[in-house]
Amino acid sequence: MRINPYEIAKQQVDIVRPYLKNIPDYIFDILKTTKLEYIVNFPVRMDDGSTKVFRGYRVRHNDSRGPAKGGIRFDVSVSLDEVKALATWMTWKAAVVNIPFGGAKGGVTCDPNNMSIDELERITRRYTNEISPVIGPEKDIPAPDMHTNPQTMCWLMDTYSMLKGYSVPGVVTGKPIEMGGSLGRMEATGRGVFLIGTQAAAHIGLQIGGSNVVIQGCGNVGSVTAKEFAAAGAKIIAISSSKGGLYNPNGLNVDKVLECRNQYGCLLGDKVDADEINNDELLEIECDILIPAALENQITNKNADKIDCKLLLEGANGPTTPEADSVLFDKGIMVAPDILANAGGVTVSYFEWVQNLQELLWSEREVTARLEKIMSQSFEQVLEIRNKNNINMRTAAYILGVGRVAKAMDLRGVWP
Ligand code: NAD
Repeated sequence: MRINPYEIAKQQVDIVRPYLKNIPDYIFDILKTTKLEYIVNFPVRMDDGSTKVFRGYRVRHNDSRGPAKGGIRFDVSVSLDEVKALATWMTWKAAVVNIPFGGAKGGVTCDPNNMSIDELERITRRYTNEISPVIGPEKDIPAPDMHTNPQTMCWLMDTYSMLKGYSVPGVVTGKPIEMGGSLGRMEATGRGVFLIGTQAAAHIGLQIGGSNVVIQGCGNVGSVTAKEFAAAGAKIIAISSSKGGLYNPNGLNVDKVLECRNQYGCLLGDKVDADEINNDELLEIECDILIPAALENQITNKNADKIDCKLLLEGANGPTTPEADSVLFDKGIMVAPDILANAGGVTVSYFEWVQNLQELLWSEREVTARLEKIMSQSFEQVLEIRNKNNINMRTAAYILGVGRVAKAMDLRGVWP
């Protein structure tokens, strides 16, 4: 049976409720619901002349601390509950790194791997048109997620601007640099995963240089994370895509692996001197650092006892279920949770939005320095809560994130 990520998102709020004693109960009831769920069905002309109807979503979970922010996912698995869970996690993530955003998410149920560029452009433009009443630089700002990229964001920005009659770069982040994107945004999530990984590793006495790293997924997050760890001297011993993975205990050449993915659309062992493995096997490889960077619900009560790493660094959103979390805690595995570990993306998205609104252009060095400061402070704050309460890092991150949102809501009160 498929695990419902939104049920997990609600359970996570219940887990931290006892730690936030001064917050009125009604606030938790609001936090376990979404503010807005927008469902759109729309036709798109396909290359073969046929017309298909697609379903898209935009969900705003909470905007108490500022405009809502969250990516857009194109995938066959996109459903309302998945989007609701992802929107909820965005609220906590923005709060953990203390940037003035709430949480949102969107997506279209479609199979982007089997669509042409033209079809993807038409889907993006029509979807943008349909959700245009609920997005905007002051209310909800989309960004890339699975199977969407800077080009997708540029089409979104262009369509929204056409509807308004003037250019609105601040409606979306993750745009190409030439079109108002921020330097360092493409790399931001993977770079943030690496920064948190470095701090978490230091905390458990693990050296990054020479450590063995396993990564599930080699898209935007997985590939940048792999490059960052390899550049710091770690051995990437396994990495995967949706079609399977590669394993070499002596370490893979990350550039060659990514070249192979670009050239053949999949990872081929004979091209890069590696054994081919499937995604289930990959997660159970003995290693120092395991980085899920693909999908939710990858580490569950079915495989948690077989996870054999010292540090689990969550690049993906929601890769670990609550039951699996307790197993990992009992096994003494340090978990750097998604809402902390992959928050580099939303942080630099915030920098992009700030630059767009104020017509500023920051250098990559400035962006990275600001990112490092925020990631480092957030890690220290989560660690302090963990140590004070003798709890796992996820619960500590939730106490920080949910606590900040709940406090803002309490201060604002209920209108009228
Ligand atoms: P992407 O589309 O660039 O890459 C996704 C990767 O996952 C690809 O390598 C794909 O082959 C792989 N994959 C897909 N299905 C799989 C399966 N069943 N098993 C194993 N691998 C599979 O997406 P991305 O932007 O890298 O996002 C990856 C994860 O990181 C998602 O959970 C996303 O929500 C999260 N995330 C992304 C960002 C961002 O800035 N892009 C920010 C925060 C969190």
